[in-house]
Amino acid sequence: LDPEEFRTQAHQMVDFIADYYKNIESYPVLSQVEPGYLRTRLPENAPFLPESFDAIMKDVQNHIVPGMTHWLSPNFFAFFPATVSSAAFVGEMLCNCFNTVGFNWLASPAVTELEMIVMDWLAAMLKLPKAFMFSGTGGGVLQGTTSEAILCALIAARDRKLEDLGVHNIGKLVVYSSDQTHSSYAKACKLAGIFPCNIRAVPTSVESEFALSPLVLRRAIEADVAAGLVPLFLCATVGTTSTTAVDPVSQLAELADEFDIWLHVDAAYGGSACICPEFRQYLDGIEGANSLSLSPHKWLLSYLDCCCMWVREPNVLVKALSTNPEYLRNKRSEYDSVVDYKDWQIGTGRKFKSLRLWLVMRSYGVANLQSHIRSDVRMAEMFEGFVKSDPKFEVVVPKRFSLVCFRFNPDKESEPAYAELLNKKLLDSVNSTGRVYMTHTVAGGIYMLSYMYLFEIRLPALG
Ligand code: PLP
Repeated sequence: LDPEEFRTQAHQMVDFIADYYKNIESYPVLSQVEPGYLRTRLPENAPFLPESFDAIMKDVQNHIVPGMTHWLSPNFFAFFPATVSSAAFVGEMLCNCFNTVGFNWLASPAVTELEMIVMDWLAAMLKLPKAFMFSGTGGGVLQGTTSEAILCALIAARDRKLEDLGVHNIGKLVVYSSDQTHSSYAKACKLAGIFPCNIRAVPTSVESEFALSPLVLRRAIEADVAAGLVPLFLCATVGTTSTTAVDPVSQLAELADEFDIWLHVDAAYGGSACICPEFRQYLDGIEGANSLSLSPHKWLLSYLDCCCMWVREPNVLVKALSTNPEYLRNKRSEYDSVVDYKDWQIGTGRKFKSLRLWLVMRSYGVANLQSHIRSDVRMAEMFEGFVKSDPKFEVVVPKRFSLVCFRFNPDKESEPAYAELLNKKLLDSVNSTGRVYMTHTVAGGIYMLSYMYLFEIRLPALG
C-alpha cells in the first residue's frame, strides 16, 4: 500500500461517502433495476491495464448506486434496522488499517484484550450477570452473524451431550424453538447434524402475541422424553423477526434447567433496547440461559457484521471448537491461559472488529445510545398512533420496540384471502413509488405490513 496514493484515494472516497449520506433521500429507496442489469453495463473481463480511480468512481455512481437498495435511507422501513454511525465507520477504518489476523492472543494481544473488554462493557450495559462476563466466570466473543452464534452454541451443546451419550446417539437429540424463530436456527440445526425429524417448532398464536408458550413447550418435551429422545437445545427469541415477539426467558430457563437443555437467547434486534432500563425486563431470567447473542449491527449503530455472543461456560464452547495445529502453538496459549478467539468461532482468522463497538461506546456514551433507541421507539409510537387513528387500518400485534405490524382492515366479515390481496396491493403500490420501502410478514395466518422505524443518521443530542 502506498501511503500517499492511499491518502488521495481515501480523501476522495470520504467525500463520496459523505455526499452519499447527505443526498441519500434523493435516491429511490428500493432499487428499480431489473435482474442482470449490471452484466449489460460492465465489461466482460477485468482490465489488463490499471484504470484510474476517477473512472472507477464514475462507474460506482452510474452503475452501482442505481442497483442499490438504500438501507440507510430515512425512507427505508423494511426488514430490520441496519444502523451505522460515524464512530463505527472510523472504527472500521482503523480495523482495516491494522489488518491484523487475530486468531490467538499472540497474533495481536490488543485484538483479543480489547474484545474482552468491549464484551464486558456491553454485558454491563445490559446488566447481564457476572456469569457471562470475563470479569466473572463467563465471557463473550464477536461473531459475524447471529447464524454463527447459534451454530457455535448448538455445537457446544451437542458435543457436551454426546460426551455422555456417545456420538452414535446423535439421532436422539431434539431441539426446540417457536414457529417464529429466525430461519438461521433451522440452518444451524442442519449444519450441526440434528436430524430434521427432531427439530420442533412450537406453534404460537396471535392471542399470545406470538411468544413461545412454556406450557406447550413442556408438552412437546415430555412427549419426546417419553419416546426415548433426548432434549438438547432451546432457542428463545427476544424480538422475533416477524413481529418482535418476546419469549418468556425466565420460565423457559426453568424448563431448560429441569430437562438439562442448553438455552440460547437470540436477541439479535430486541436485545439492543435492553440497554434502556425500561426494556431490560425482556432479559429477566437470562442468568438461567447458557448463551445469548445480540447484534449491534442491527440497532446499536455498528455496521455489519457485528454479533455479540456471551456464554456462561466458555470452556464448553472452546472444547467443542478448539484446534491446536503445530503452526499456531505458542507458550502464551499453552501456559498463560490466554483467550484464543479462534476457539470461540467457526473461522480461524478474525478481524479487529471490537474497534467499531469500542468507538461507538466511547464516542456516544451509554446516555446517547439509550436516546438513540428511545428516539426510534418514539417514532414507531407516532406511526402506531396514525394507524390507530384511522378506522380503515388496524395494528395487528401491539408494538414492543420500533416495529409496527399493521394492515388495512376491510369489512370484518370479508374473507381473509380478500384482506390479504388488498394488503398486498397496498404494499406493492407504496413500494412502487420508490419513495418508501416497507416489507410484509405472515404470522398466525395473517398477512400484515411491517413498518420498522429506522434511526436518523445523526444521533439525537450527541454528547
Ligand atoms: N435472529 C433474529 C431475531 C433476526 O431478526 C435475524 C435477522 O433479521 C437473525 C437472527 C439473523 O441474523 P444474521 O443475519 O446476523 O444471521
